[in-house]
Amino acid sequence: MDYFYIGIDDTDSPDGMCTTFLASAILKEFKKNDIEIIGFPRLIRLNPFAKFKTRGNGGISFKLDLNQKIDLAKEIVLKFVSELSIMDCDNTNPGVVFYKGEITEEMIRYAFKAIYSIITIEEAEEFASQIGAEIHKFKKGRGIIGSIAAISCPLEDYTYELLAYRDSSRYGTLREIDYDSVVRMDKETFPETFENIDGEYLAIEPKTPCPILYGIRSNNPEVLDIARDIVIPNERIADSCIFKTNQHTDMHIQNANRISELKQYSCYKVRGIVKDKPHIIEGGHMFFTLYDESGEIECGAYEPTKNFRKIVAELKAGDEIEVYGGIGEQNTFNIEKFQVLKLNQFLYKNPICECGKRMTSAGKGKGFKCKNCGRKIGSDDKVPEIVERSLINGKFYETPVSARRHLSKPLIRMNLD
Ligand code: ATP
Repeated sequence: MDYFYIGIDDTDSPDGMCTTFLASAILKEFKKNDIEIIGFPRLIRLNPFAKFKTRGNGGISFKLDLNQKIDLAKEIVLKFVSELSIMDCDNTNPGVVFYKGEITEEMIRYAFKAIYSIITIEEAEEFASQIGAEIHKFKKGRGIIGSIAAISCPLEDYTYELLAYRDSSRYGTLREIDYDSVVRMDKETFPETFENIDGEYLAIEPKTPCPILYGIRSNNPEVLDIARDIVIPNERIADSCIFKTNQHTDMHIQNANRISELKQYSCYKVRGIVKDKPHIIEGGHMFFTLYDESGEIECGAYEPTKNFRKIVAELKAGDEIEVYGGIGEQNTFNIEKFQVLKLNQFLYKNPICECGKRMTSAGKGKGFKCKNCGRKIGSDDKVPEIVERSLINGKFYETPVSARRHLSKPLIRMNLD
């Protein structure tokens, strides 16, 4: 069936604004003019490795019935985008897309491309003309890339986010949210809401100067009303809006059959065998190599993943695991989570001497010698020894809430036994 769709992207800068806030302001204006959208506004997260993203690479879309005041809706959207976008930031290049019709297979393919890989402005423009969409580019108009994807993205798995916005006089100042009330909200609504808190870290509170006071994420919209009532803001909430979104669905993860298939700036799950003991480098980042018969890749658990690195440090050469994550700027596989498929229960070590001491190598091809009693053996073969492992076969391990990507599906949403 034909509907009217609106897509908006790339209106904010690192110093202010947020496309969701603009969307919420537009919806208020729609309401004043008796324009109704169908369902919730959508917040669609796209490729986390897109070069020009401000923060979470999100685009917005609305769906309207054709009997709504379409021309007025278009006028309002263009007015708000041109007046509220941070146009003086070089990296802010808004794009608005209007589309009347059905969401076609080729549009769905485009949306997945915007999540899986990189699209140019020219390619997006060509695609818009192919599907008969109306585009409005402000400055370079890069936002049309995400706007088309936000309209076209199917949502089989989805979540919701309630965003509460601050009074504009408070922008840039410390946010005032009662910590204990968030703990209470988490206790009463988790796991239907999730990613609320991580120890002392208030995950619902953004750390940037944007208009958002807090964002609460959930599996259903009803629980957000309960959560909203429990959280005590110690500053005025100027506005709020619930979005339907692909956040926390793993929609960015592609299945890779072998390591040689992996491409930079894309996200995957892939199986492999740990080649070496994970090691930490300056800055606190931890790395190890994962291999299969087709090749190998360096996997990283970066400093912000904090205690997750202690789990990664427990991996040993020979462990078979499946990693979820993506390949960024440095060409390393940035791990979001992993599942242990088969732990290596054996370590090959120098033999123990009859006297009870561990023997040492007598030199290449010369076997082992015991420094304690002088005994020698000619064979160079190390012996397998069963080792105690703290990791568990079959179990998933994930990065902490504070370091999690918007698209990453938390284990709590994975229906694991
Ligand atoms: P916020 O989340 O704070 O609203 P953001 O992180 O979404 O900001 P934007 O300011 O929207 O960042 O900038 C992202 C830009 O990247 C947009 O112009 C969008 O069209 C573009 N973009 C999105 N996906 C891709 C992609 N796959 N390839 C190339 N460009 C993309």
